[in-house]
Amino acid sequence: YVAQNSNKGYAVYDSSFDAHSPKQLTLMSELHHAIEKQELQLYFQPKIRVADSTLYGVEALVRWNHPKHGLLFPDQFIPLMERTRLIQGLTCWVIQESFAQCAKWHKEGLDITLSINLSAKDLNNPELPDLISGIKGATGLNPEWIILEITESSIMTDPEAAMEIINRIHGMGFQFSIDDYGTGYSSLSYLKRLPLKELKIDRSFVSDILRDESDAVIVNATINLAHNLGLEVTAEGVEDAEILALLKAEGCDLAQGYHIGKPMPLVEFNHWAKSV
Ligand code: C2E
Ligand code: MG
Ligand code: MG
Ligand code: MG
Repeated sequence: YVAQNSNKGYAVYDSSFDAHSPKQLTLMSELHHAIEKQELQLYFQPKIRVADSTLYGVEALVRWNHPKHGLLFPDQFIPLMERTRLIQGLTCWVIQESFAQCAKWHKEGLDITLSINLSAKDLNNPELPDLISGIKGATGLNPEWIILEITESSIMTDPEAAMEIINRIHGMGFQFSIDDYGTGYSSLSYLKRLPLKELKIDRSFVSDILRDESDAVIVNATINLAHNLGLEVTAEGVEDAEILALLKAEGCDLAQGYHIGKPMPLVEFNHWAKSV
């Protein structure tokens, strides 16, 4: 089912991803119960300030502990969920779990931000602002600690509806970030109109900056663009010390990647955070 893949560590299903294949249909029906059977788990990947390498925040990344197939990665089940309303259940679960955890960290004195990923479907769900507001109230957390990651393509399905939902959530004090920047249909006019705090440069540009001159140019230009728009910039996919050093020289604000810390289960992350 899940083959090794030298590039990512784990492969997605074969390239002819077919939501109607028997495999996918089985997985889909199992997904209906994954949340109630407590098979989903959040991993937390640290994000540091490039200038002094101190911990800035975490990104919550979902995993599915499948009873038969073992640990499944988001690429293996999120696309399936996005075809149905299941994704709304996932988002709701991620928000509940991660907001509660973030409130707990702050009570324990760990002053960090929490980033979560929203899907295109979430940005077309008019109930999302009330859902977020309800969970915020129940967990007593400060919305300024939370960064909601969206992608350019996820806004483009229905830009006006997405903008309205984003603005309502931003109005409650939550922050927004553009994830995988540079891979979608970049529209500078949306960059200007959205209430953003951050751009995250996609790891496909970052991981090759030492070898590929055009990637280096893109990363440098994105850092300058972000700063000129008054935004912070995060580099994803920092896999070694040399890349981190180069990003520091370029004035990149924040960084995330295997060199800094892999996504970790809660207990492991808590140990990691105490050791830095
Ligand atoms: P993303 O938001 O861009 O998350 C970053 C991905 O890059 C994560 O993969 C992370 O494990 C991986 N990564 C981090 N550092 C490195 C590195 O140095 N090298 C390499 N090669 N990879 C690195 P992951 O966890 O498999 O997640 C994949 C995507 O699935 C995420 O991309 C995000 O778009 C989506 N996703 C994850 N969790 C959720 C969720 O709760 N809800 C939604 N809607 N989407 C999610
Ligand atoms: Mg993300
Ligand atoms: Mg990304
Ligand atoms: Mg992504």
